[in-house]
Amino acid sequence: MSIILGLVSLVIATAISIAATVFLDFEVLHFSIVFIIPIGALIIGGICGYGYFKGLVLSNKAIKGYHYLIAFILGIICLGAIKYGTYQLTCINPETFNIEYSLDGDHISNYELPDYGPMTFVNFNRYLIETTPVSFSYRRREVAEVSNKTAGWVLTIIDYLGLIVGCMVVSGLATGDRIYCDKCKKYMKRKHIFNIPKEEGEGFFIALESLMAEPMPVTTLKELEQKFSKNAKEYYKCYISYCESCKDTILDITLIEKDGNNKYTENDEFEYKKKIDFNLVQVYTEKKVG
Ligand SMILES: [Zn+2]
Repeated sequence: MSIILGLVSLVIATAISIAATVFLDFEVLHFSIVFIIPIGALIIGGICGYGYFKGLVLSNKAIKGYHYLIAFILGIICLGAIKYGTYQLTCINPETFNIEYSLDGDHISNYELPDYGPMTFVNFNRYLIETTPVSFSYRRREVAEVSNKTAGWVLTIIDYLGLIVGCMVVSGLATGDRIYCDKCKKYMKRKHIFNIPKEEGEGFFIALESLMAEPMPVTTLKELEQKFSKNAKEYYKCYISYCESCKDTILDITLIEKDGNNKYTENDEFEYKKKIDFNLVQVYTEKKVG
């Protein structure tokens, strides 16, 4: 399943990239922000790898090192397919001598250029890389335009790596942070259960720890929810991950708070992940319970 979905998303990523070039004259692959972050390449790579990793998750396979190697290879194939597909469609308008994209035009390979020779696939791409001016813009204003062989190669390599990296790091998105149960060889279910206001945090964690330390707890997490949970802008977001087969359960909590830019985001430094008795949270795994 992962291979089939992997091939499907490979084709989709390639088609999107080629279509944007042909119909919009927009090279997604070479779209960067803040000068060199290859955001377009990362997105195309992400689309390419997503299907493969999603397939692994759907067939309950743990993601291991060699899967990243396969994603790496998929990224290279995608890159080659985009470049070769675009090349195959690259024609010259006989009247204006401009490049246009068509299936039955006068193909670029019928031409040759001084210094580059006949416009084969390799020569044509070398020509593009070395002669396409690179424009740097800042807040929508163009601040510099460089036409330099070295700069062309460096930026092209960054874009190519961006695609491959995107193809590999998308694994996190495909698993949706789900934990793998090694005992049962399947992905756990993950569910958001409630939020605790940041200022209630101290009392909540003390109550939580003592609840989890009890050998025969008489209360459940639901009672802590009723006691502490309220709406707040800064809060602890509580999730449970549980294996439907062996009932292994992990409580994991993230902290949402205001960052330096006045935005409410997850604080990466806060981490809480602990095993918890399934009986304490069972009520949340049943349907109709919010
Ligand atoms: Zn299990």
